[in-house]
Amino acid sequence: MQTDSGKSLSARDKEVIWHPLTQHQTAGPALAIVRAEKEFIYDEAGNRYIDGIASWYTAVYGHSHPYIIDAVKRQMDHMDHVVFTGFTHPPAIQLAERLLQLLPQNQAKVFFNDNGSTAIEAAIKMAIQFFYNRAEKRQTLIAFEEGFHGDTFGAMSASGLSVYNGPFEDYFIKVERIPVPNQENFAQVKAQLLDVLKKGESFAFLFEPLVQGAAGMKMHWAEHLDALIQICKKHKVLTIADEVMTGLGKTETLFASEQLDHYPDMICLSKALTAGTMPMSVTTCSQEIFDAFLSKENAKGFFHAHTYSATPWACAAALAGLDLLTSPEMEANRKRINTQHLAFIEKMKNHPALINLRCNGVILAMELNVPMERYGELRDKLFAHFMQQGVCLRPLGNTIYVLPPYVTSDASLAKIYAAIESSLLLFGRG
Ligand SMILES: *Cc1c(COP(=O)(O)O)cnc(C)c1O
Repeated sequence: MQTDSGKSLSARDKEVIWHPLTQHQTAGPALAIVRAEKEFIYDEAGNRYIDGIASWYTAVYGHSHPYIIDAVKRQMDHMDHVVFTGFTHPPAIQLAERLLQLLPQNQAKVFFNDNGSTAIEAAIKMAIQFFYNRAEKRQTLIAFEEGFHGDTFGAMSASGLSVYNGPFEDYFIKVERIPVPNQENFAQVKAQLLDVLKKGESFAFLFEPLVQGAAGMKMHWAEHLDALIQICKKHKVLTIADEVMTGLGKTETLFASEQLDHYPDMICLSKALTAGTMPMSVTTCSQEIFDAFLSKENAKGFFHAHTYSATPWACAAALAGLDLLTSPEMEANRKRINTQHLAFIEKMKNHPALINLRCNGVILAMELNVPMERYGELRDKLFAHFMQQGVCLRPLGNTIYVLPPYVTSDASLAKIYAAIESSLLLFGRG
């Protein structure tokens, strides 16, 4: 095995690695990152970038936070893996207790998985079996258009962003899609949902509450979503909030679901849960759902597991993350970033090159006022421009969004905003 050939890391990568979401015939070399600290990442040439997307919404307390790293190291010193069927361990118990204290009060049990997609898979399977256990067969999942829920089969079926799902569509589970509500279409969306519910075939409504991440940080009103959830509850259809992106302080509340009057029956969390350190996720549910699996019959239980369920090191990272999340310092940081985002919106709202400026908590998004070329040349040019400015942002089509680590300094925020402004001179119309 060749180990150190004098080639760059990017060159060695190209020889051996197949990257996710990548067309390798046309993609340029992958940039090798060798260090990450606070809101900064450093490449192999020593260039520093501000991580304006908190590493896919994970490293929200800043990269390599010493408090998180210490907690993981301490756990590493005395226990690695525990089989999670028939056995349990302190970090998992503590984490479940802490999460249930913070989540909407109807959440009663925590089921552990190992990534965002598998949290969704578990939720979908729980919802199907909830009805199966009552001898009801329900085969339809309701989901929003343009939702994104992951890349495993159930989660992929539920995702409305189907540009890349062509080869798999014939194998999907059955999904009825409704538009995301806004002021204009609200009555029509409600009517459409009712039409679907009347068929009596739906087991659950799955949604990203308030902000649809992969759709380009599209935002909708809590009031509208709440009405849809209320309708589902009336028709005894389960509701599943995919908070894999929104959870843990991204929006104005710790969980987007808190902004609703009617709480979802299940909530999925991942990404920021372990603060950018280790893969883990949870699917939480109400007591009613848990109780539907209790029986003298073994097979009515939920027979679903991942080998690395509730792995202790990840639980330790998550527990330390919750300490930080609920600290006054981090709360002040989230408010500070929200205030700065709103000031940027105020400053730019009449700029002819920008439309649809929006913000919820630490999430800021806007569209460049140019014809849509999703993932096309514009996106790549914008990305390159931001990186040249020392700012890592990953535009989606003509959508520019910022979701910085909560510890991002005012100076770094100013650099992010300046990079966006300078991009308008290059690419904006007008
Ligand atoms: C990222 C994401 C997922 C999938 O999580 P993975 O860990 O990438 O499988 C699911 N739902 C939402 C809303 C996400 O942002």
